[in-house]
Amino acid sequence: MRRAVYPGSFDPITNGHLDILSRALRIFDEVIIAVARNENKSPLFTQEERAELNREAIKSLPGYERARVTSFSGLLVDYVLTQQATAIIRGLRAVSDFEFEFQLALMNRKLQADIDTIFLMPKDNYTYLSSSLIKEIARMGGNIDCFVPPCVQRALKHKIFHTA
Ligand code: ADP
Repeated sequence: MRRAVYPGSFDPITNGHLDILSRALRIFDEVIIAVARNENKSPLFTQEERAELNREAIKSLPGYERARVTSFSGLLVDYVLTQQATAIIRGLRAVSDFEFEFQLALMNRKLQADIDTIFLMPKDNYTYLSSSLIKEIARMGGNIDCFVPPCVQRALKHKIFHTA
């Protein structure tokens, strides 16, 4: 059983995250999407809201029954061990992601030598997509329909404009 953990803030999940997840599901038997608490990033959605949106969003992916959404806090490598996974999935959008991700991957390997980080690249039209950009566009009333799944479109409208 090849199991990987895909950690992130997912505030909120975008089509870029879903693209990475679907690639990971082609390589691994099981992928655990682990929603980080990340209070220092002042998330728009609570950890539980983000996990719930992820559960809804992944239903459109082929093989989603092999994906599981969880939440975690604390050291990622410790969490990966408790899940009996052997790999961490991260997405690389552009060279700008590389330096931080590389540092993180090497530090995680130093902390836990048996866990490897696998970098996956999204489809090119998702390379400029980020959760923070989506939130900014949504706050200004822009159209985000082709960037996030329908449940996230609704949740953002509700959160920002308090509409149904
Ligand atoms: P974090 O706070 O851990 O960076 P994010 O939710 O922003 O959490 O990102 C989680 C992972 O998903 C990161 O590896 C990030 O590079 C990747 N990611 C985010 N958006 C995209 C995207 N549009 N395409 C590919 N990977 C992405």
